[in-house]
Amino acid sequence: MTATPDIVCRDLVRIYRSRDVEVQALQGLTLTVRPGEMVALVGASGSGKSTLLGILSGLDTPSAGQAVVADVDLGALTRRGRTDFHRHAVGFVWQQTSRNLVPYLTIAENVAAVLTIAGVRGRRRAARVREVLALVGIGDHGDRLPAALPGGLQQLAAIAVALANRPRVLLADEPTGALDRVAARAVLATMRAVNEHEGVTVLIVTHDQTVAEQVRRTVRIRDGRTSTETIRDDLGASPGEEFAVIDEAGRLQLPESFQQALGLRDRVRLSLQDDHVLVRRGDDEVVR
Ligand code: ADP
Ligand code: MG
Repeated sequence: MTATPDIVCRDLVRIYRSRDVEVQALQGLTLTVRPGEMVALVGASGSGKSTLLGILSGLDTPSAGQAVVADVDLGALTRRGRTDFHRHAVGFVWQQTSRNLVPYLTIAENVAAVLTIAGVRGRRRAARVREVLALVGIGDHGDRLPAALPGGLQQLAAIAVALANRPRVLLADEPTGALDRVAARAVLATMRAVNEHEGVTVLIVTHDQTVAEQVRRTVRIRDGRTSTETIRDDLGASPGEEFAVIDEAGRLQLPESFQQALGLRDRVRLSLQDDHVLVRRGDDEVVR
């Protein structure tokens, strides 16, 4: 038996309605992330990445479909359940460092605060603060205020805060988006290390191609749906194998580059072979 996935999205839909416009930010998105996996979610601006993370973090609710994170069905959450979910099941790192850390608390106090809220006090709390700051490599900076540290170290502190209560899942929305290359690499390396050594499941949204290349599984989102995946067995060395994602209704998206290379559009010809499906241009002659 395989363990139950840590993240499951089934046909997720999120429609934003304002007075005269309707935006379908997610249009039937399907995604499964297993325990201990680290997945990069990439896609153009406006493709629905932040909308998805908003739902997975329990801050927003889908218009339709199902989202389950760490065995919590986010469509059926009570207020109490939501609070519990935020304290114990998931940790977040956002792009804006100001959203991750309380500015008038030191780094150690920021970590201690989330432990206090979860009911951890006294020596256990002090020990966990030291442990988690050491884990992300900022043990020497615990008594500094966030603003006294460069952006990269602030994001490492944000990871420490996110991990303090040992969540099963770490969600990060463009955590390196505001950083220079060197700092971005350090933040990513830390996320990989906590994924590997602590076993935390990590979903990281990024439009940084170098980030995506450092992660074994990359899922591409296009028009509010997962379209293709790349799995790398040998990180950094090979370009990786590309997969298309097929949802429960049997829909799949061809990579744009494939469509362009062969001029595949409107209608394609499909035929079932022994062990594969053949997709050909369908415009020369239409089979009825
Ligand atoms: P990404 O993070 O991939 O850039 P978003 O999830 O932020 O994409 O946005 C997806 C789409 O939903 C975009 O067209 C965006 O303009 C729209 N959108 C996002 N948030 C809102 C909102 N609160 N109200 C209306 N439209 C929104
Ligand atoms: Mg975004």
